Amino acid sequence: DLQAISRTFPFGRTDVQALRDVSLAIRHGEYLALCGASGSGKSTLLNLLGLIDFPTSGTLRLEGDDVAALDEVRRAECRSRKIGFIFQNFNLVPVLSALENVMLPLHIQGQSAAQASARARHWLEQVGLEGQLHFRPDRLSGGQRQRVAIARALITEPRVLLADEPTANLDSRTGDGVMELLASLNRSTGATCIIATHDPRLMERMPRLVRLTDGRIVDDCAREAA
Ligand code: ATP
Ligand code: MG
Repeated sequence: DLQAISRTFPFGRTDVQALRDVSLAIRHGEYLALCGASGSGKSTLLNLLGLIDFPTSGTLRLEGDDVAALDEVRRAECRSRKIGFIFQNFNLVPVLSALENVMLPLHIQGQSAAQASARARHWLEQVGLEGQLHFRPDRLSGGQRQRVAIARALITEPRVLLADEPTANLDSRTGDGVMELLASLNRSTGATCIIATHDPRLMERMPRLVRLTDGRIVDDCAREAA
């Protein structure tokens, strides 16, 4: 739930206003897309929702709590337990294998290596990478890296899943597979799923589409899921 959120970035003597008075209510279990041209503010909004970035002004509430009131420790805990984030540029750790990258969030949560490894294998299998468990990111294709990033975001079974251009680096078949996976996760666990995209094929299937232009919401439409 966002109210009149703005985010400006300092840029020389002027400021770039990446988001202007954006208000958005997102219900539990919703499946929605943020769309808009490059530079319209999709990633900025997703980063705010993922508690990775702070709004310059406005209020952001997560399950009723004002996020600004959380201290750094509670914020990090909230991020690690409730939110799964699939980054536009993957953010994989280059010196770790696919398996180790996916284990990382559970490791941080203090789960045993055996448990983390079993869960990571399960999710890597879900994204079709059971044959590449021990490959480091530099030996994986772009699409395979994307799928490692997805498995890593899903391993904590987050209540909120945020995905920044999850199909941008995939061929259409793999992209469809990834979307199926996200949709089935949304259906089976009731996780809220918010996807930034400019892929028209993906937008077509989303039950709710929020369109950004120059940091403002210009359209917010719900419709029958395809
Ligand atoms: P794309 O489709 O290319 O990923 P986007 O919709 O995700 O674009 P954002 O990354 O949110 O766009 O950027 C929105 C605006 O904010 C752009 O003008 C960008 O230059 C600016 N911006 C984003 N992050 C920063 C930053 N860390 N510092 C300065 N300016 C930034
Ligand atoms: Mg972006």
